[in-house]
Amino acid sequence: MSELRELYQQLIIDHGRRPRNFGCLDAANHQKEGYNPLCGDKLTVYIKERDGVVEDLSFEGQGCAISMASASLMTQTLKGKTIAEVTTIFDRFHNLVTKGDDGELAESLGKLSALAGVAEFPMRVKCATLCWHTMLAAIKNSDEIVSTE
Ligand code: ZN
Repeated sequence: MSELRELYQQLIIDHGRRPRNFGCLDAANHQKEGYNPLCGDKLTVYIKERDGVVEDLSFEGQGCAISMASASLMTQTLKGKTIAEVTTIFDRFHNLVTKGDDGELAESLGKLSALAGVAEFPMRVKCATLCWHTMLAAIKNSDEIVSTE
C-alpha cells in the first residue's frame, strides 16, 4: 500500500512539474477561467467539443502542484469522452477527493485515483477540484465566474 502511495506521489509531482496538455487550444469552442482564492490557483480550461464529444482539451494557468497535476490528469482522462461520460467521471472524482477511496471508486478512475489522498486535507480538495468545476462550467457555457469560494 505504501508503495502505491509513493507511486501516486511521484505521479502528482511529475504532472505538477510538467503538466500535460498545457497551453491555449486554438480550436477550442468552449473556454472558462477558474480561481481558487484560498490557495491562489488560477487556470483556464479550453475544450474542443463536437457532437457531444470532447475531441480535445487543454488548460493553462498557475497554481500549486495539486491543482496543476489534477488539471493535467483531467485533460488526459477526458480526451475523446462524451459529455455524459465526462459528467459521470466528474461525480466519481468528486466523491473520491471528498469522501476518500473506497477501492472500487479508485479502480474505476485509473490514474486520477492518485489524488485520492487529498480527501484527508480539506484545503487541498479545492485545489484538486478547481479544474473540474471549471471544465464543467466551460462545457455548459456558464456565464458564472468559477470560484471555489
Ligand atoms: Zn492549490
